[in-house]
Amino acid sequence: MNYNVDEKGYYGDFGGAYIPEMLYPNVEELRTQYLEITASSEFQDQFDSLLKSYVGRPTPLYFAKRLSEKYQTKIYLKREDLCHTGAHKVNNTIGQILLAQHLGKKRIIAETGAGQHGVATATVCALMGLECIVYMGEVDIKRQAPNVARMKMLGATVVPATSGSKTLKDATNEAIRDWINNPTDTHYIIGSVVGPHPYPDMVARFQSVISEEIKSQLLQLEGKENPDYVIACVGGGSNAAGAYYHFLNTPEVGIIAVEAAGKGIDTGESAATSVLGKMGIIHGSKTLLMQTHDGQITEPYSISAGLDYPGVGPLHAHLYASGRGEFISITDDDAMKAGLELSKLEGIIPAIETSHAFAIFENRKFKPDDIVVVNLSGRGDKDLNTYIEYFNL
Ligand SMILES: *Cc1c(COP(=O)(O)O)cnc(C)c1O
Repeated sequence: MNYNVDEKGYYGDFGGAYIPEMLYPNVEELRTQYLEITASSEFQDQFDSLLKSYVGRPTPLYFAKRLSEKYQTKIYLKREDLCHTGAHKVNNTIGQILLAQHLGKKRIIAETGAGQHGVATATVCALMGLECIVYMGEVDIKRQAPNVARMKMLGATVVPATSGSKTLKDATNEAIRDWINNPTDTHYIIGSVVGPHPYPDMVARFQSVISEEIKSQLLQLEGKENPDYVIACVGGGSNAAGAYYHFLNTPEVGIIAVEAAGKGIDTGESAATSVLGKMGIIHGSKTLLMQTHDGQITEPYSISAGLDYPGVGPLHAHLYASGRGEFISITDDDAMKAGLELSKLEGIIPAIETSHAFAIFENRKFKPDDIVVVNLSGRGDKDLNTYIEYFNL
């Protein structure tokens, strides 16, 4: 079994490009050019150089001594929280803005839910001096004021999406409408391994620098490239795709995906797509999707804004369906506890998305000599208010 995308844009039964005809030229331009452009030495030099001097890569692979002692296994943390802007998302936006420049695009659009991808996009647009329009649900604009302010400071225009539930999926619809109306000068930066082919593969490739670094860092630290397990939280699945990428076809490396169970799988307030989802189409991709009996997308819930996506990227749907990945869902309460524990044991306050990944150690046992790498996708500064309210700090 191969876990990379096939020529038609599928991972097993999942993926493809289910798009309106009017969007076809835009997506087709990307599809026919992304591999050639990103493989060119000019592109690779620019990408590597910005990852190094602007993002701060390579990020450390840190042996978490006290956490390892507590759970009686060898735990390493891949420190994506130390990336510029505080999470892995910038790896992808750097890659896509360089691609946009190579395609001669002058204008960048993006959608954002919690605002993290909007900030990562506005950041690289400022870096390159390109116009940036970010679509965001009206409800999310109210909930995420600090990120809206960041985007404005970075020079982006934040456009409210006022239809439907006024959240992420409505912002996505607005962005798609914009792209249809501006097919020649505009690139649409999608923020995770979701959307029509080639986005899931393109974003996974940009994020794959994470597992590339893990391999060489483990070789230095442990004398071997492969860990026994790689663990990551999954919203759309981009930090996970990057952390798994170079291990996908190495069956000795266990792949563990952690989803948000919200208030519990059976409560109706959850974002555990692999358990609750059925095959459907969302944002141009055939994948597992939380939906009602008649196929309406259900509104997801998680205490972490970055995990409450009703679908999951097609790569992850395939990892789940094929059994290659082990999928675990973690409640709000267990995630919050794990975030506090990491803070106290290691002096690292994680994003609440990331806290879900750490809750696994209370739920699953590892052997004492297992090497377990956790992708520490982001830092907790943005979540301080949620931590304050939850713990009465
Ligand atoms: C956005 C975000 C996520 C979820 O997105 P993925 O595409 O699943 O990686 C996870 N962690 C952090 C810190 C985020 O900002």
